[in-house]
Formats: sequence, C-alpha cells, structure tokens
Amino acid sequence: MFKVNDNYLKLPGSYLFSTIGKKVNAFAAQNPDKKIIRLGIGDVTQPLAPAIIKALHVAVDEMAQAETFKGYAPDLGYEFLRKAIAENDYKARGCEIAADEIFVSDGAKCDAGNIQEIFSVDNKIAVCDPVYPVYVDTNVMAGRTGVYDSAKEIWSDVIYMPCVAENGFAPELPKETPDLIYLCFPNNPTGSTVTKSQLQEWVDYANKVGAVIIYDAAYEAYISEEDVPHTIYECEGARSCAIELRSFSKNAGFTGVRLGFTVIPKDLKCGEVSLHSLWARRHGTKYNGAPYIVQRAGEAVYSEEGKAQLKQQVAYYMNNAKYILEGLKSAGYTVSGGVNAPYIWLKAPGGMTSWEFFDYLLEKANVVGTPGSGFGPSGETYFRLTAFGSYENTVEAVDRMKAL
Ligand SMILES: *Cc1c(COP(=O)(O)O)cnc(C)c1O
Repeated sequence: MFKVNDNYLKLPGSYLFSTIGKKVNAFAAQNPDKKIIRLGIGDVTQPLAPAIIKALHVAVDEMAQAETFKGYAPDLGYEFLRKAIAENDYKARGCEIAADEIFVSDGAKCDAGNIQEIFSVDNKIAVCDPVYPVYVDTNVMAGRTGVYDSAKEIWSDVIYMPCVAENGFAPELPKETPDLIYLCFPNNPTGSTVTKSQLQEWVDYANKVGAVIIYDAAYEAYISEEDVPHTIYECEGARSCAIELRSFSKNAGFTGVRLGFTVIPKDLKCGEVSLHSLWARRHGTKYNGAPYIVQRAGEAVYSEEGKAQLKQQVAYYMNNAKYILEGLKSAGYTVSGGVNAPYIWLKAPGGMTSWEFFDYLLEKANVVGTPGSGFGPSGETYFRLTAFGSYENTVEAVDRMKAL
C-alpha cells in the first residue's frame, strides 16, 4: 500500500486568501449596491509595456517559420537573456556576477520553493516573522521544520526573527545559529527594507557561521532611496554565502507571463561541493527551460525603450503608494513601507486584531486589505495594503478610510 509524504499533512490550512474571498463575497451578496475596492492581493494590474508586447509578437512570428523556430530552450536559459541580466542587474551596479551564474526560470516563487532541496534535511532555517509563506511551507513539505504549535502558529525547528515596529521591521541576528537564512528586501508583506550596511552585517554573519542566505529581491525595482541595496552582491563577501532570487513579475508585470531567475555564484561551496553545480544538475533534471518567447520578452525589459516604459509603470504604482502612505498618516494611522516597496503596512487602530480591522474596513469603507496575522504571529495587529490597484480606486479607498 502506498504512503503519502506525510509532511504535507503537517501543513496548517492556508485559509488567508480563501477566508478573505469568502468574507468579501458574503459582504457583496448582502450589499449589492456597495462598490468594493480590493487592495489585498499582491498582483499587478497595469498591462504589459509596449516594448515587451513588441518583443513577444516578434518572437511568436519566429516560431511560425522553420528557419527561426525554437524547440527546447537551454535548461539554464538563453545566452541573450543571461547576458542582459548580468550586464544590467549586476555589472551596471558594480557587482561581479557572470552570465553562467544566472539560472533562468519561470518565476521566483518556484525557485524559492525548490531551492531548499539542494540542502540537507538536517539544516535549520531562519525566517522573518511576518514572512512570505512559501519559504516556510516548502521546508515543511521537505520535513525540515519539526512540530507545529497551532496556538502559537510556529514550528518547533524554525528560527523566527520578528520584524516589528521596535526594530524598524528589520530582523536581528538570531541567537541560535541557522544554516539557511531567508531574507526578502524590499519586504513583502511589510514594505520595509534594510540599508547596505545592515545587509553587510548579515553577509558577514553568514560567512562567519557558515550559513547560506537565500535573498529574495523580487521588489528591487521599487527601491527609491540611495542607501538601499538593489542586490545582495553589493555586499562584500556575498559571493561565498548568498543565493539571490529575482522575478520579472513585479518590475515588468510578468505575473501571468512567468519569468524569473536565480543567481548562484561559483564561490558558494560546502567543502568541495559547489551549490552552482547542484542547482545546475537539479535544473537539468527537473526543468526544461522557460519559453523562448517569454525569454525574448524578458530581454526587452532591458532595452532602452523597455527600461523607460517600466520606470513609468513602477512610478505609477509608487504614486499610489505615496497617496496611501500620506493619506493614512494624515488620518492618524501608524504606517510604514510604501517608499521602497509597493506595500503599506499599517497598525490596526484602537487595539483591533488584524481580522477585526479587516471586518471593520470591509463593512465601513468597503475596502479589502490583507490581515497581517496571515503572514505570521508578529503580523497580528498589522494590516497590508497594496499599491497595485488603479490610481482612481486607490484614491477612493484612502479617502473613504480618511472619512471613517
Ligand atoms: C511576488 C513575489 C515573488 C515573485 O514570484 P513569481 O513566481 O516570480 O511571480 C517572489 N517573492 C516574493 C516575496 C513575492 O512577493
């Protein structure tokens, strides 16, 4: 008789977005005349930029001719894209990352979930709290997290690093030594980030204790402040301790197109074994490459035209973020984020829990956000709003909240 991977059975139900959906649907059914504004889910709304659409069309036409048709893509990505990434995301920032240290994939979520399998099941992970749930849940599936305490909503073998107002939503070095450290800056859900010298401390720490940092930089394009690192490889020594995850979803609207990449420097080794070769082996065995047309679209992200158009797209969302941040501040809310990230993190007013505030906001302002407790115990009493809506809806939502 077969057995299932019973690590899956340890996962607590992920009720966050389904509970939100149910509550919103129930409210809408009872109040058909109310216009509900959704600033909850972290998905983009602006269409693909013209430069990207053009590249897609050209690539589609190439697929129609035998002379230019492409079959399987190279496992690790087309050279044209890996070169464009190395040049624009790394060399232009003074970071030494070669094209063959870049692994093109269909997105950062898959890579964030899959990367753990090249590490021993004995490794101990450290995560921020609140956290992007993928990091924890994929380690649960692999059997790396111990026993779940449903009252405290924590796993016995996971090191949690609270990110709260008191520490500026930046994790502190853990007391217990981890083997794998997941960091995401600019952060989802808090919208906060760290300075280059703060990140340097993590790199130094990881090199000292022999840990690997898995650095999720999906929101890099939203950085507006000088002192915030765009990549972990701006830090000295990161080549020997850090893996970086990147995505085309948030900077270029590829959430439905699917493209991302992972960087593993060849200096990153466990004894004689390079993680680069393990991930190359994994990719070669389990992955058959991102689609040619999508990689051409990714290349267009780095064209002069593409860069200019995407700068505007990011500015559109960040203008929303500014409106939310300033509007809520003026209404007396305690807010953070929204400067280097499209997320605004606010404290639920009047001692409300995150779900109480969710219900209150839905009922009184017909605005939907995400309760912070869905991202971890330290998210309780916090609430996330996203800047990914339309400007008109964002303004209306904030104005309604101000009028409460
Ligand atoms: C949106 C997001 C990603 C991107 O995921 P894709 O699979 O590339 O769409 C990665 N990490 C975080 C924290 C995100 O919020």
